[in-house]
Amino acid sequence: MYWDKDIEIMDRERLAAIQLERFKKTVKKAQKSVYYGGMFKRMGLNAGLVKSLDDIRNFPFTTKDDLRAQWPYGFIAVPKDKLIRMHSSSGTTGRAIVVFHTAADVQAWTDVLARCIYMAGMRKTDVFQNMMTYGLFTGGLGFHYAAEKVGALVIPAGAGNSKRQIQLMRDFGTTAIHIIPSYALHLSKVFDELKVDPVRDTKLRIAFLGAEPHSERMRRKIEEYYGFKAYNSYGLSEMNGPGVSFECTHQNGMHIWEDHYLVEIIDPKTLKPVSDGEEGELVMTTLLREGMPIIRYRTKDLTRIIPGMCACGRAHRRIERIKGRTDDMMIIKGVNIFPIQIEKKLMEIPGVGNNFVIILEREGYDDHMTVKVEVQNEVFTGDLRPLEDLRKRVIDELRADILITPRVKLVEPGSIPATEGKAIRVIDNRKE
Ligand code: AMP
Ligand code: ZN
Repeated sequence: MYWDKDIEIMDRERLAAIQLERFKKTVKKAQKSVYYGGMFKRMGLNAGLVKSLDDIRNFPFTTKDDLRAQWPYGFIAVPKDKLIRMHSSSGTTGRAIVVFHTAADVQAWTDVLARCIYMAGMRKTDVFQNMMTYGLFTGGLGFHYAAEKVGALVIPAGAGNSKRQIQLMRDFGTTAIHIIPSYALHLSKVFDELKVDPVRDTKLRIAFLGAEPHSERMRRKIEEYYGFKAYNSYGLSEMNGPGVSFECTHQNGMHIWEDHYLVEIIDPKTLKPVSDGEEGELVMTTLLREGMPIIRYRTKDLTRIIPGMCACGRAHRRIERIKGRTDDMMIIKGVNIFPIQIEKKLMEIPGVGNNFVIILEREGYDDHMTVKVEVQNEVFTGDLRPLEDLRKRVIDELRADILITPRVKLVEPGSIPATEGKAIRVIDNRKE
């Protein structure tokens, strides 16, 4: 049941002692980088000043902008010839963030991700199809190495080419997949088109859903369609990628591996820690990385610590599924809205299809939100009444939840382009 029993169920006191020791080492390592070296000197910071874990608060946060400003090598804490791998974030704005790993870093990452997938039930007997982009994105190579370490037979399918994906699943008896949730929904349409039933015609039993926010309802929808168990996988390139936090078989929050990462949740406005169980921005410090240690990284991801122990007995705390990023929040007529709120509602409405997109526009001084929603084929009967009823229902349900009245446009299945990578949920036309 455990990949690394000693570490997974160790008592919290010992875990804290390990964290303190590793944090001190991290500060020492980080000091060797151009960025932290300069900053520690200016601020009079060093590892000797760290007496308890609370002392981490004396260190400033690190942001995406800091990483960008030091592009490409300003965060490197080892001689360049010790680096063996580079990855990069999939961000669409500004310069992509790059992260470098030594051989030990790749090993540590592989091991902690192997811990995750083993925890969710993957074994050497599985045939694992990795349907993520290979290349700079961490979800490709990262998962590939971890699945090999568990001993599964790995099919490095990469992203896209839906028909071939389904063919591979059938030909080689794929039992486990790694897939972006929005793509899993898109792929279900291709299964339908080909008249292949994933429950009857494939051996799929486990899926790892990662890389983008998705609601519990969306997970259940995917599980029901494919007849497998789907586990939420959270990570970001700055903290290696997948392997940061993962669901166990209880599917009740994601264990965040505190022997690898020091976790804080802060109020993104005041930057003060929130009380346990309260929502805020996740801040993380690498505890083992040597190539590119990062201290107090502001992830911009919103979540909360789920209080209490998990029934699985693991000591590492759990975070709630990610609500979104602070910069994904839309402010419309003074109301704060996250795309996932819209997704959650839509998934509950019968007749709603698999994809949607939110379009924001400005008319005069007024902001408007249009939600374009794919509907299921059955609703297109030639009769306009069911369509109009559905449209009204979508408006009503959304209004009840987000408190503003969106415009709703129903469209045919497949008319919103599916992406191979993370879904684009918001198109903001308000900016000049
Ligand atoms: P990247 O570094 O390009 O892989 O992007 C990482 C970002 O993707 C994170 O900071 C999150 O915003 C998002 N992300 C990754 N996995 C998940 C997940 N399971 N749920 C919600 N958001 C996720
Ligand atoms: Zn658990």
